[in-house]
Amino acid sequence: MRQLPEGVQHGYPLARLTTIRTGGPAELFARPGTLGELERLVGWAAAEGLEVGVVGSGSNLLVADAGVPGLIIKLDKELSTIELEGTGIRCGGGARLPAVSARAAQAGLAGIEFGVNIPGTVGGAIRMNANAYGGELAQVLEWVDVTGAAGTERRAPNQLGFAYRRSALGSGEVVARASFSLHEAASEAVKATLADMRARRKAAQPSGIKTFGSTFKNPDDARAENRTAGQLLDAAGCRGLRIGGAGFSAKHANFVENHGDATTADVVAVMAEGRRRVLEQFGIVLEPEVQALGPVELPADWNRR
Ligand SMILES: Cc1cc2nc3c(=O)[nH]c(=O)nc-3n(C[C@H](O)[C@H](O)[C@H](O)COP(=O)(O)OP(=O)(O)OC[C@H]3O[C@@H](n4cnc5c(N)ncnc54)[C@H](O)[C@@H]3O)c2cc1C
Repeated sequence: MRQLPEGVQHGYPLARLTTIRTGGPAELFARPGTLGELERLVGWAAAEGLEVGVVGSGSNLLVADAGVPGLIIKLDKELSTIELEGTGIRCGGGARLPAVSARAAQAGLAGIEFGVNIPGTVGGAIRMNANAYGGELAQVLEWVDVTGAAGTERRAPNQLGFAYRRSALGSGEVVARASFSLHEAASEAVKATLADMRARRKAAQPSGIKTFGSTFKNPDDARAENRTAGQLLDAAGCRGLRIGGAGFSAKHANFVENHGDATTADVVAVMAEGRRRVLEQFGIVLEPEVQALGPVELPADWNRR
């Protein structure tokens, strides 16, 4: 058996680190708390020929039932801090985005209000190019420190290849830190915007359920006639559709919910059925937004990107 660096654990359960709460364990797992620790771990994994994966808040993740080979990293301590610097805010990749938005509002800084409803980390949001209510990460992102096998390098937003719910970060690359450039505003006004965004979200989406949010991306297809993925799934009769322990939410047809004992295979079966129905009724191919970690078995005709 290989010699493990300090802090690396075998067979660590990942389901509880995801919001849908499904999937098996990581072969190896570690929580680096400093940039040095992260660099050493990623370098060690490369030397051992191990793949590196990252879990942020697990709010857009589907973990394979069979578990995930290689080293899974969750950023901790110094790599999840939030620090103000003038009108900038410097964050660890593991900092939670709603906390960044709240901290900015408290300090009278505007520009990152949209993060209040994205239940992910800064690193996950950068990987996913997360956005909400028209707010865009790229508009306020100043730089990102990315750690890979060769060390850490600073990248500008135009080097990150942002597209709809996508970035060009390589697999095994970890967002260790990021800086946002904001602007001064009255703290009370920014806080009021956050409260308004929270209330709008609460009215529109189910809360308190085990889900990874939107399952499919909104299609860029004229046949959709500007309908969202949720509206198409709803029209195809998917609202509330259940397979095993998983089903499309009764409140939001593009949300898959774990009713308590779902496996990742159940979630995939629900997704496949929704996708099949939309394809059959509208000729539109829905593309998943959720990210797979490990060997998640998708139907053979599933053209994932
Ligand atoms: C209720 C709900 C509402 C949501 N609303 C929105 C919304 O309005 N807008 C939106 O865009 N998304 C939304 N999401 C989806 C999700 O919150 C975002 O995609 C978020 O950015 C994911 O961040 P995370 O830290 O949870 O990433 P995870 O789910 O942990 O991981 C997602 C991907 O990012 C990678 N990753 C995570 N951390 C890092 C890192 N430090 N470095 C490199 N890669 C990393 C993972 O390996 C994986 O590939 C919602 C989800 C839920 C559950």
